[in-house]
Amino acid sequence: MENVTTRREVFGRAKKALAAAGIASQIRPAMAATQSHGNKHVEGEDYYDKLGVTKIINAAGTYTILTASTMPPSVQAAVALAAKHPVRLLDLQRLAGEYLAKRLRCESAIVTAGASSGLTLGTAACIGVMNHSPIQAVPMQLPNLKNEAIIQKAHRYSYDHALENCGVRFVEVDTLDDYRKAFNERTVMAHFFNAAEGGQIGREDWIRVAHQHGVPCFNDAAADVPPISNLWNYTQMGFDLVTFSGGKGIRGPQNAGLLLGRKDLIATASATNNPFDEGIGRGMKVAKEQIVGMVAAIDWLLSQSDDQMETEFRRRADRISAELKDIPTIKPEIVVPAVANHVPHLLLRYDQQRVKIAPIDVAEELRKGTPSIELNPATGKTHASSGLHSDANTIVVGVWMLEPGEDVIVARRLHEVLSRNVKA
Ligand SMILES: *Cc1c(COP(=O)(O)O)cnc(C)c1O
Repeated sequence: MENVTTRREVFGRAKKALAAAGIASQIRPAMAATQSHGNKHVEGEDYYDKLGVTKIINAAGTYTILTASTMPPSVQAAVALAAKHPVRLLDLQRLAGEYLAKRLRCESAIVTAGASSGLTLGTAACIGVMNHSPIQAVPMQLPNLKNEAIIQKAHRYSYDHALENCGVRFVEVDTLDDYRKAFNERTVMAHFFNAAEGGQIGREDWIRVAHQHGVPCFNDAAADVPPISNLWNYTQMGFDLVTFSGGKGIRGPQNAGLLLGRKDLIATASATNNPFDEGIGRGMKVAKEQIVGMVAAIDWLLSQSDDQMETEFRRRADRISAELKDIPTIKPEIVVPAVANHVPHLLLRYDQQRVKIAPIDVAEELRKGTPSIELNPATGKTHASSGLHSDANTIVVGVWMLEPGEDVIVARRLHEVLSRNVKA
């Protein structure tokens, strides 16, 4: 970094001197390129610093509002390499899809602009296939076509909108009997929210009944890796479409995701996708860098093991608890949410009569400190967040998105803030 800055300053001064001599126009672009990229170890300028954007320590988890995850070094390198060459986009999309389908043991795959895009493209595919209708019909012609998506009432969620973008209407069911009766000539899909905490109908029944009616079944498993095997568990179970977020536990690019499943559905989804102007996916462009990054992230993840990752996350949680053991009344607990964010999280509870600061205020102090730390948003909250059940008296530390060594910084800051508030 030092070097680069110095070289830039030198170049800037040289340019000014030349301009003063009236020969600035003789500096050809080639020379500028040599000056700024001639060094083998080119490092980009830090635009967070340049723009004044605060870098954070992510002790929260894979939250989009916090830019979710960072790509492992091998993925970052693949993205940087992909940026150097233009290619034919349709070749890249097709070959990336074939590679992913093979590695993820499903019929077909595409890289989408995130799981939310996967939901929209997959819904458009169900509509297209069930109506034998061209994809341009979505969403304007939907009122005249088959347009119903069946869902359990307990599976309604904030991503409903990603399906409704296509113009579908939800038909809600509670019991298996309701579900059987909900199918009619207007049904295009049966949608399942994999991490839903309620709902009477399990995955196998959901699939079996839909298939009895010849209706495709979609599973939103966006945040449900690890375990790594979930990448094929749901397609192999019989779901016709499954979407995953690329930028959560998979640690690919933040604006990438996967849509996996049946060949005809994926082909229709691809036809609605960028670069085709007349599909609903034209605005969901995934650039070559992110397509490559998504594939590289899958290669990276498949080289990991669930046990190794879990051991590392527990080690971080233990290290933080050990640092805090002299805080009066503190009780650490490690919790692994059941489906989404299925990794160890550290919960810290204490008696606020002895440590006179509320968890929500601890979170604010860590946010305002240097370096700025974000604790899990369930901290001090009574409602569940992503499978984490918390309360006003609990600090929640998400350790899985920490960079190496950051567990020590989080522990030190928590200790500073808590010990300062201990009542003698
Ligand atoms: C995060 C999430 C999404 C959206 O994923 P993106 O990749 O950010 O588009 C969709 N569904 C569920 C259940 C999620 O958790």
